[in-house]
Amino acid sequence: MLEFRVATDPGSPDKPNEDAFAILPTLAVVADGATSPPHLGDGCIHGPAWYAQTLVGFVAAAHLSRPAAEPADLLAEAIERTTQAHSGSCDVGHPGSPSATVAMVTMSPDGILRWLVLGDCTFVADAGPDLLVVSDDRLSNTSHAERAAVKEPGAASDPVEYARRIDALVLAQRAHRNRPGGFWVASTDPQAGCESLAGSVAADTVGRRGALFTDGASRIVDLYGIHSWSTALKVLDSAGSSELLRQLRIAETRDQVANSFPRVKVRDDATALAGHWGKDV
Ligand SMILES: [Zn+2]
Repeated sequence: MLEFRVATDPGSPDKPNEDAFAILPTLAVVADGATSPPHLGDGCIHGPAWYAQTLVGFVAAAHLSRPAAEPADLLAEAIERTTQAHSGSCDVGHPGSPSATVAMVTMSPDGILRWLVLGDCTFVADAGPDLLVVSDDRLSNTSHAERAAVKEPGAASDPVEYARRIDALVLAQRAHRNRPGGFWVASTDPQAGCESLAGSVAADTVGRRGALFTDGASRIVDLYGIHSWSTALKVLDSAGSSELLRQLRIAETRDQVANSFPRVKVRDDATALAGHWGKDV
């Protein structure tokens, strides 16, 4: 069994939270819907928040009907069903069709913990003296010039120029999306399930403790360096996911124009699922 708890916080009070999650006794999954500037179009009347919510719903449904299935297969099925859910109303062939990054863990009846990461969500597991930390950096290996322009210190201080640079980055990334040699996300191609990073561990050989983060939450470690993964897990254990997100927002309030920590979004939707697993949980 898994025992996970979650905290989620939208990056802006004026926009829907595009992170979504589901927790079942043997599944924890989080998806981060990708934001793109509305004027670039996505062929969809629903948007990334709907995409992420629908996707995790179908992942949960697939797991309930096939509890022993691999996470990659659950994700592939969920991508297919989500695409079908809006193929009648939307242009699912649009290059900007809504997408999401994903992380999940499942626990099978034989005590195997299986994990999956697709895109810049992160899975962290306490493995005794070492930590298992999995994130998929294929996106950051594309569109280098466009990303550097967005991350230039102080770039966000000129809103018009900053918006132009973000447009250029989004269009450059679309050319690499769900292509061999590029990067993979959940969108309309079920093949993305097979392209995920995935693995398994016998639940009792890992420290039986871990977490799933969207990139808006993992940045407290991998961008701001406020915590190591180890101390982040300790905060999650002792004070909970809400406390970790509270510390994250304090750091971001101190760096409103992204000068100290150049980043595409000054504040992003942030979600952290933290928990334990084992046969006796
Ligand atoms: Zn749609």
